[in-house]
Amino acid sequence: MASRFPEAEARLLKKWICMKCSATHRGRRPRGCRKCSYIGLRLKATERRKV
Ligand SMILES: [Zn+2]
Repeated sequence: MASRFPEAEARLLKKWICMKCSATHRGRRPRGCRKCSYIGLRLKATERRKV
């Protein structure tokens, strides 16, 4: 099962993670964490699986 669903993969790439409380935010980059309002957000590391 190599590339089953590229759309879902693209969605996964747009995940922001709060570096403080690890809350995840989908979509565009939020101004701050919705939980703790911390602005230190990073994109979720993209895991490219090489077959
Ligand atoms: Zn947070």
